[in-house]
This record gives sequence, structure tokens and C-alpha cells, in this order.
Amino acid sequence: MVGLATAWSLARRGVRVTVIERDRCGGATSAGNAGWVTPGLSHPVPAPGVLLQSLRWMLDPESPFLIRPRLDPRLAEWGLLFARACRRANHRAGLEATYALARSATEAYDLMAADGVAFESHSDGLLYLVCDAGHLDDYARAYDEMARLGFDGRVQLLDRDELTRLEPSVGTAVRGGLLAGAERHVRPETVCSGLVDWLRDAGANVEEQAAVKALVPTGDGWSVRTGSGSMYFDHVVLAAGAWTTQLARSVGVRLPMEAAKGYSVTVPTAGEGPSRPLYLTEAKTAASPFDGALRLAGTLELAGLDLSVNRRRLEAVVRAAGRYVDGLRASATDSAWAGLRPMPADGLPVVGAVASRPGLSLATGHNLLGVTLAPATGEALARSIVDGHDGPELAGLSPDRFVRRRHRVERRRPASVAA
Ligand SMILES: Cc1cc2nc3c(=O)[nH]c(=O)nc-3n(C[C@H](O)[C@H](O)[C@H](O)COP(=O)(O)OP(=O)(O)OC[C@H]3O[C@@H](n4cnc5c(N)ncnc54)[C@H](O)[C@@H]3O)c2cc1C
Repeated sequence: MVGLATAWSLARRGVRVTVIERDRCGGATSAGNAGWVTPGLSHPVPAPGVLLQSLRWMLDPESPFLIRPRLDPRLAEWGLLFARACRRANHRAGLEATYALARSATEAYDLMAADGVAFESHSDGLLYLVCDAGHLDDYARAYDEMARLGFDGRVQLLDRDELTRLEPSVGTAVRGGLLAGAERHVRPETVCSGLVDWLRDAGANVEEQAAVKALVPTGDGWSVRTGSGSMYFDHVVLAAGAWTTQLARSVGVRLPMEAAKGYSVTVPTAGEGPSRPLYLTEAKTAASPFDGALRLAGTLELAGLDLSVNRRRLEAVVRAAGRYVDGLRASATDSAWAGLRPMPADGLPVVGAVASRPGLSLATGHNLLGVTLAPATGEALARSIVDGHDGPELAGLSPDRFVRRRHRVERRRPASVAA
């Protein structure tokens, strides 16, 4: 979704664009996720207290978090950087940097729709459900912090009676809720297919089943080698999700990023069940109603680039959801899906030009927020590529934050771009 949205933003500015996709556009992590467009959730994952909580979760095989340890110095380095990002001041700086991009997330979706990209979209807010009412204050405080950054979340605390009036399917274990009225959700598959249709209609070149094998600088641009030959571009945007690390490394760009696997199941519905997306807070699970379907999504596993589905953990997601929502007909065998969130060590998206590699930009690392941030990322990066300098919304997200030695380079307007 991030690559497609960037291609859309460039193409609508008159840049000639080619999208090169290894498989089918929108078929990877951007397919089976929960589809939330939630700038109010801009808090980066590395946060004070997260390390201790993760250790507790690791002792429980059905918890929402798992690390499969491996003997890899890169994982160790990632862990150290993650631990540093958990410090209060770093977390706060990360929140500000993420929200600088996220503040235009819903506006960018509106722009995409107004530009003729067709996708399924809902604006019913996000409803947090808690079984322990004591937890509600934590979420309310997080939205207070967002309000101080300028986010108008339209937040409302709800007791059990108010909740059941709003969502009659809420289970008896649920003690209270919080409605964040300004959050939205989309059906992510439709965003990707809508972008592909728009790009093809606009005359962009969309190459599927074309894995990028090598990137070679040519002096005035890049040669991109796929199985069927080489193509030449003034500018390349690497937006290969969790797989970007390998491609970046192949051209000497350091990107400490891990794949954070999550699961979902999607069941058909005939209008029954929740009418708005639910955050099942203690279970760290999302329930998203779409037109004719309900999707449950959750878990975060650091297990490398592995897409296998752990049935036990998926069953735990479905079982946990049953505590919050009555009458759920989902099971772990319903269209089970796994996706890899691209999770940089500091928890922040990686968007912008690579100073040491003229004509190369990265657009990745969106972790839990790739759907939320894809159109805003496309717009910010396209402005940066076309104008030749990053706007303030990209200030804290530069790929160069991982580079030890910095270079200053002149950048120029490209005539053609591969995303
Ligand atoms: C369970 C779950 C729930 C989630 N829920 C939400 C949510 O509610 N809201 C939200 O904002 N985010 C959510 N996310 C996160 C979001 O899904 C991701 O951040 C986002 O999809 C990442 O998009 P991407 O375009 O960077 O990567 P991807 O969608 O993974 O796309 C990368 C593409 O690059 C291609 N590729 C890789 N290597 C090559 C190569 N060598 N050559 C050519 N092509 C290549 C792949 O085939 C793939 O199509 C969720 C994630 C999970 C797992």
C-alpha cells in the first residue's frame, strides 16, 4: 500500500511512474490487516514499560507478543536500539515525529477519494473495550496527550449501559469503553486494488510478478534488474515492506528493521455483530466490520521473514475476541492470514531520501500504522522528490538517522520514478 500510494502521489504530480511488484500488488501485509486509519494511535511501540511487559508476555505461549530468538547480530543490534527508543524522552520525540506525518492521514485519504481512487471507507470512530475498567484512564490519557499535539480525537468515555446501547453485541465481560470518534477504517484490499486501477487508468506502468533482483547506480539514476531484464530510472523508491531491509542492504544502506508478524481471520457476515471497529484492549486484538465481513486481527511475533501461521496463537486471538463480542462465529480456520509489519528498531516510519545514494528514497517501517500512513507518506515523499527537499512532516523520519556518517547532496527533479 505504501508503494502504491507513493506511485499515486507522484503520478498525480505528472511524474512518469513504474511500480515493480514481486508478486501481486497489495497481496502482502497490506491485504489482511485490520484497516484502521487511526492517527490517534501515533505512539511508537518502543515505550517506557514495554520491555518489562514483553518479558512477561514471552512466558505465555498464547500472549499477544512473542520473540523467536535467533543467533543473529542484527537482531541483537535491533534489540539494543529498541531498548534505547523505550526511554521516555525518545518515546516522546518518536510520538511527535510520527504524528507530524499522521496529522494529515485522514485528509490524505479524502484527497485520494476525491482524486477518483475507489475504496471501501467507514467513519464510525474506533471503540475501545475494556474488561478491567481501571485501564480506561490509560487510553484516555493517551488521547489527552494526542490532543496536546493538536489531534481532535472526539473522545467519549462510556459505561456499560451506554456501551450496550451503542453496540448491543458487546459481551458481558466488558466493563466500559472509550469511543474515539475521529478515527476511521478502510477495507485495505480495496485501497490497494483502487490504487492499481487508478494508476493503470492514468497510464502508469504496473509490473507484477517482477521481483527486483538488483539495484545498480548508473551515475545519473538507477538500473533496476528483475527476472525479465533491466529498467532505468532517475529515482527509485524502495517500498518493499518488511523485505526492504535486504534490498537496502544490497546498496549499502543500513536499515535496522525486523518483521513483526500478525494474524487475522475474516468471516462473512450479513450485517450482524459490531457496527464499528473495536479495540479489544487486554487481548490487543482488533475487530473490524467491513461490508459483508468481520475481521479479527492481532498478535505480534518477531520471527524473521516467516509467514507460517501458528494455529495456537491464532486460536487465542479468536477465543479472546469471544470474551468481548457475543455471537462471534469466527474460528481459527476461517481464511487464516499472516502478514509481516515492517518494524524499525526505533518504531518510527522510514521515509525520505538517502543522502549517500542520490536518486534513492525509502518508504517503509510503518509497523502498526501502514494503512493509516500510506497516503500521507505518498504525499510527503512525492513532494520531497519533486521539490528536492523534505518537508517538516518528514523531519524525524529520514533513513539517514541510521547512517553513522552523513553526506550533504544536491537533489534534482526526476523525470521518471520506480516505486
Ligand atoms: C495483523 C495486522 C493488522 C494490522 N492492522 C493495521 C491497521 O489496522 N491499521 C494500520 O495502519 N496498519 C495495520 N497493520 C500494519 C500494516 O498492515 C502495514 O504497516 C502495511 O501493510 C505495510 O505496507 P507496505 O506497503 O510497507 O508493505 P507490504 O504490504 O508488505 O508491501 C510490500 C510489497 O513489496 C513487495 N516486494 C518485496 N520484495 C520485493 C522485491 N524484491 N521486488 C519487488 N517487490 C517486492 C511485496 O511482494 C509486497 O507486495 C497491520 C498489520 C498486521 C500484520
